[in-house]
Amino acid sequence: MFNALPQEYRVAPPEELRARIAAAREQLGSRLTILAHHYQRLEVCEFADHIGDSYGLSKIAAAMPEVDYIVFCGVHFMAESADILAQPDQTTFLPNPLAGCPMADMAEVADVMEAWAVLNDLGVADRTIPVSYMNTAAGLKAFTGKNGGLICTSSNANGALEWSLSRGDKVFFFPDEHLGYNTAVRFGVPRERIVFWDFAEDQGGLTDEQIREATVILWKGHCHVHTNFSPEHIDQMRETYPDVRIIVHPECPPAVVDKADAFGSTKFITEYCESAPAGAVIAIGTEVNLINRMAHYYPDKTILELSGQTCAVCANMYRTTLNDLAFCLERIDDFKPIRVPEHIKADARLALERMLEIPK
Ligand code: SF4
Repeated sequence: MFNALPQEYRVAPPEELRARIAAAREQLGSRLTILAHHYQRLEVCEFADHIGDSYGLSKIAAAMPEVDYIVFCGVHFMAESADILAQPDQTTFLPNPLAGCPMADMAEVADVMEAWAVLNDLGVADRTIPVSYMNTAAGLKAFTGKNGGLICTSSNANGALEWSLSRGDKVFFFPDEHLGYNTAVRFGVPRERIVFWDFAEDQGGLTDEQIREATVILWKGHCHVHTNFSPEHIDQMRETYPDVRIIVHPECPPAVVDKADAFGSTKFITEYCESAPAGAVIAIGTEVNLINRMAHYYPDKTILELSGQTCAVCANMYRTTLNDLAFCLERIDDFKPIRVPEHIKADARLALERMLEIPK
């Protein structure tokens, strides 16, 4: 069963959709919670009970026993994570079933297992700890849990490296090379001990010696939204606004993160905007819907998109519309939920629970 959007929802005008969403929401009452990731459209965020990052939102929903329906306005791996952490009687929905994450898709479990087999053949897998970013499919989270590893977010990746390197000699980090590199360098891993596993190449494009010598192996995945930003954007922004503060997400390339005034997770960025004084000029290197929402919330501050254009859009986040939300809520008992199979869920949950051992 596929949640194809019926014609009546395609043609309904926005005001009608708003009224229908509000009515459906009222009818479902406390049995429903609507979660929206920071990168969602403003009009979708306006219906959210909670706005945040994927892990934080999943935890919130799981801690609400009265909630039967978790509607996650985000992308597929986020709804999977919510389902992994949800109570057994809670059901999770993704209003637009086509909303995926290209970066998560860059680390296919089959490719990861092939890479792991190479490490096994070289005799180093036993001392290698897999670390997977939240932005991975449930299958990779389960692989991580099964092989003694843990999940990290953009705010605790440093702690995840510390946890892992106190238990093994080597970390295999999936799937974002930039978050992995930015974190590893600041953690103090020598640059010559960081290598990149190119999944399009035989043996990741690495020699046996490079794999054996590495402390951190980075899966060569990236987020096309955050790799939009360049050091030249920072130079241009500083030239135009001499007092600007540049804040970027750690999924940006190292040359951008190195040149910024600060970097951090979506939570860090939203808190930075909130606590900045009136009149502050802030240029942000992350998804444009978050930036626009910050500019909307804080009109007394100048909040700009770093590249100076509006190209930093996550098209997958943008897929979720009021039309999808209305359809999902009005037909929730017929809507196909996101269900992670139990055997995958158990190992994935193990990897997520290990994340809780990381000091904050
Ligand atoms: S912003 Fe990047 S990492 Fe986040 S969902 Fe979109 S493609 Fe994936």
